[in-house]
Amino acid sequence: MKLDNVPERLPAYVYDLRGLAEHVASVRAALGPTELFYAAKANPDPEILRTVAPHVDGVEVSSGGELTHVRETLPHIPIAFGGPGKTDDELALALGVDRVHVESPRELSRLAALGPANVLLRANLPFRTSGAALAMSGPFGMDEDALAECARRARSTGLTLRGVHAHLASGLDAPAMVDLATRIVDWAAPFLEEHGVDDPEINVGGGMAVDYTAPEARFDWTSYGAGLPPGHRLRVEPGRALTAYHGWYVTDVLDVKTTRGETHAILRGGTHHLRTPATKGHDQPFDVLTSTAAPAARATLVGQLCTPKDVFARDVPVPPLSPGDVIAFAMAGAYAWNISHHDFLMHPKPTFHYLR
Ligand SMILES: *Cc1c(COP(=O)(O)O)cnc(C)c1O
Repeated sequence: MKLDNVPERLPAYVYDLRGLAEHVASVRAALGPTELFYAAKANPDPEILRTVAPHVDGVEVSSGGELTHVRETLPHIPIAFGGPGKTDDELALALGVDRVHVESPRELSRLAALGPANVLLRANLPFRTSGAALAMSGPFGMDEDALAECARRARSTGLTLRGVHAHLASGLDAPAMVDLATRIVDWAAPFLEEHGVDDPEINVGGGMAVDYTAPEARFDWTSYGAGLPPGHRLRVEPGRALTAYHGWYVTDVLDVKTTRGETHAILRGGTHHLRTPATKGHDQPFDVLTSTAAPAARATLVGQLCTPKDVFARDVPVPPLSPGDVIAFAMAGAYAWNISHHDFLMHPKPTFHYLR
């Protein structure tokens, strides 16, 4: 992020669409025959969706709202619809999508009552995933008995069982993700064969690691693609690892003060625009665009909210800072603006800019 690209009105989100397109194209190439869906909940901005679309096989949505939005934005893209608590209205919308990820036997029956659909059964498999930032068990998916019950029942309905979906963890590196995918396939392939599924599909989920302490590092898509078990129709659905790197939240310093020995730089905006560091409990990586000086002191970078939780980065090395200095927080392209509590304190919204 360069000073030349800083918009006039701050705070601002700046998205590098050209860099994003190159990144997603490289992921696509590394995956070979494995299908790539983009998990829209990471960032459903229409410009982001339109930039990602030419390089993916489809989009995964987790609500009726996302489904409607993606259909309006990308009318022809294949859609997979998941999520643990689908309402009747959402199931009715789901009838038209390419794949419905069914999360419980009751949901299977409710969907079957509405009409035909192509379904994957969401599996909650008992694989330990050490090192994962989030283990996706709990309300998501079904254990083996419920999966078998659904597979049997699907045959006597208008539903077509196409395969299994398993999104089990997030934050794993490529070797751990290959291992997880292999265990999913080793379970799912015989299960689908036993239930007579033609041309079975196995969606091994998203959750590829994004390391916020290393903004230049990338998940090793090449070794992941090469390591996935051959001979199966596989699909992945990452969100964060596709869009995190090509968004910045850019703002400026309003005040700098030291109280009780701690220096705070108070920035325009706050975590109601960029909630990522508050939810993940990390320091959001940043550059001070107006300074070339080496870090000479430490400061805590906060926003304008009247809560001690409004922290972007705590006690981090900074160059000398003064009001007017411009700071660009990196890795703000996923789970950033769209997960934030925009209306808290009624400050102005950020502006949005797209580099093409
Ligand atoms: C959130 C989610 C994803 C994407 O996860 P990332 O960590 O952003 O890659 C994929 N699939 C499902 C079912 C999800 O809920």
